[in-house]
Amino acid sequence: MTEMFTMPFAGGTLDHAETKRSGEELQKFVTDPNAQCLVYFKGMPALEEDGGLTFIHPSDLIGRDLQDPGPIFLGLNDNIPVFAAAVAHPEDLAPAESFQNMRAIAGRLDLIELALAGRAKSLLDWHYTHRFCANCGSLSHGADGGQKRQCPECDTEHFPRVNPVVIMLIISGDKVLLGRGHGWPEGFMSALAGFVSPGETIEEATIRETFEEVGIKVKNVEYIFSQPWPFPSQLMMGVTCIAETENIVLDKAELEEAKWFSKDEVKAVFAKESDVFMRPPRFTIAHQLLRHWIKS
Ligand SMILES: [Zn+2]
Repeated sequence: MTEMFTMPFAGGTLDHAETKRSGEELQKFVTDPNAQCLVYFKGMPALEEDGGLTFIHPSDLIGRDLQDPGPIFLGLNDNIPVFAAAVAHPEDLAPAESFQNMRAIAGRLDLIELALAGRAKSLLDWHYTHRFCANCGSLSHGADGGQKRQCPECDTEHFPRVNPVVIMLIISGDKVLLGRGHGWPEGFMSALAGFVSPGETIEEATIRETFEEVGIKVKNVEYIFSQPWPFPSQLMMGVTCIAETENIVLDKAELEEAKWFSKDEVKAVFAKESDVFMRPPRFTIAHQLLRHWIKS
């Protein structure tokens, strides 16, 4: 099933330029007078006063203290090379307050900029947490414009990882089951979710996670749509499934609470006519799954 809308954090316009990521071609992109570079500090992109992303020229980074591996090449945007770099000292390039938490700004950035900022954040986070070769422990270095890391000792190549997560709307008749994690604001409810384990299908992960978290057996797992989620780098795979029972046995280590809500209740919350629960933000796939369900 497909939807005619842009999923937040997806739908970017970048050409990843997979065959032009090294040597002279990459050098040409760095020195292109139109080249652009996003700047991050601790996973936070720098923003302009108008709320859009800050772009500098890669040459502005010369002499700055940058986080490994330095500027990474994100791709071509309408033939304009786009890079991203993480600075060690924010005040080097932009006022400290211009670096803003991605979750806080995700609902305000336009969708094209959000997709770009998300890809950059995931790649920069991956480089920062994968500096050492997982095979031999040596310090590795970025290669192919940051599309991979290479170990100088054992020659192993390491590629950015994406972690698959299932996120499910559990349906019983005209009701949906939503849950609240520990530390979430009172009343905030969202779809249950969990990481896919090695050896599992999307369907098996959905069935296992649902039973573990709320003690409910589900069937008829149906894929709806997916979302790249840059905190730090998940692929959220949105599904619906049908509950065989409604009795909730809560795993209190995982969830603070879980409840059934009728479609009319969810519709009223989305129409801002009810505060029976607080809906997940629009930039989340949980929001999009619920919006999809109340229209069905
Ligand atoms: Zn190695």
